[in-house]
Amino acid sequence: MGARLTTLVSIWVLGLMAFTAIQTDVKAQDKPDFEVTMLGVGSPPPFMHRFGPATLVRAGNKYLLFDAGRGVTQRLWQDKISLGRIDMLFLTHLHSDHIVGIPDLLLTGWLKSPFGNRKGKFNITGPKGTTAMMDHMVKAFAADINIRVEDQKFAREGVTPNSNEIVPGVVYDDEGVRVTAIEVNHGEKIKPTFGFRIDYKGRSVVISGDTKYHPPLAKAGAGADLFIHAVAGAKKELIESHKMWKVILDHHTSPEDVGRIFAEAKPKMAALHHFVTLTNGKIKPPSLGDLLSRLKTTYDGPVTVGADRMRFIIGTDGVTVVSAKK
Ligand SMILES: [Zn+2]
Ligand SMILES: [Zn+2]
Repeated sequence: MGARLTTLVSIWVLGLMAFTAIQTDVKAQDKPDFEVTMLGVGSPPPFMHRFGPATLVRAGNKYLLFDAGRGVTQRLWQDKISLGRIDMLFLTHLHSDHIVGIPDLLLTGWLKSPFGNRKGKFNITGPKGTTAMMDHMVKAFAADINIRVEDQKFAREGVTPNSNEIVPGVVYDDEGVRVTAIEVNHGEKIKPTFGFRIDYKGRSVVISGDTKYHPPLAKAGAGADLFIHAVAGAKKELIESHKMWKVILDHHTSPEDVGRIFAEAKPKMAALHHFVTLTNGKIKPPSLGDLLSRLKTTYDGPVTVGADRMRFIIGTDGVTVVSAKK
């Protein structure tokens, strides 16, 4: 009886060990060392299905956020990422759709709660104008900040911006994660605007930022593992209906031109986000399928139409696309 019990216990222990090993494997797969999550693939329209521009890049131990559009805090916490966990926020430019989520990230990330808990200052890197914007933001929310300092004894440090205004070149280099700012062309009155390239352990991700057709971007993104580009389009009738539509489109890249950039850069995986699909309410916007068909006339490599919460695992053997969680 004693021997039988020992055998049973042994089998149970062995089973548990096997189970633990499998769990460890799954965990290792679940936590790749280089991963990109599209938190929001939208542009100004306040859609529920496409939040404002925000892309999270996790490389090693670093959590880097690129733009903070509408809904960025909800998307982060949907994936149980504390707002205070972000090591650095990078801004491509100061158009409102890319920055309206900052106050929420700044202030809610300061709260002492699992969803907040920022240790240290609020680190932000962006174009000229970023420092003034952040200083004014703190002033705009002075009432709330003063209340929490006096009432809840919060340290001001957690809501103090550490702003860093950049020029093209390497703008971040820490624990093997290097970020390079690439100047792009979003129009004469919106200078500077940046795209970013993130390099980690011989792999790389490029984010275009908002830009017109900008061939130097293809060089900056040459051979990237993942190249994410913004795209814009409208139906012909709409463009012909009023000159305003052309002005908007002129700040962005058409699907055919995005295809040209991808064809030159030859990334392992290309992806689209920041969808500008214009409509006046009467003339419908082009569908994302329409944009993709147009892009395919100039590019025949792999391309993914982005969606909120879609993930890209940047492995040593290629990029795995993980569909958006519901
Ligand atoms: Zn934009
Ligand atoms: Zn813009």
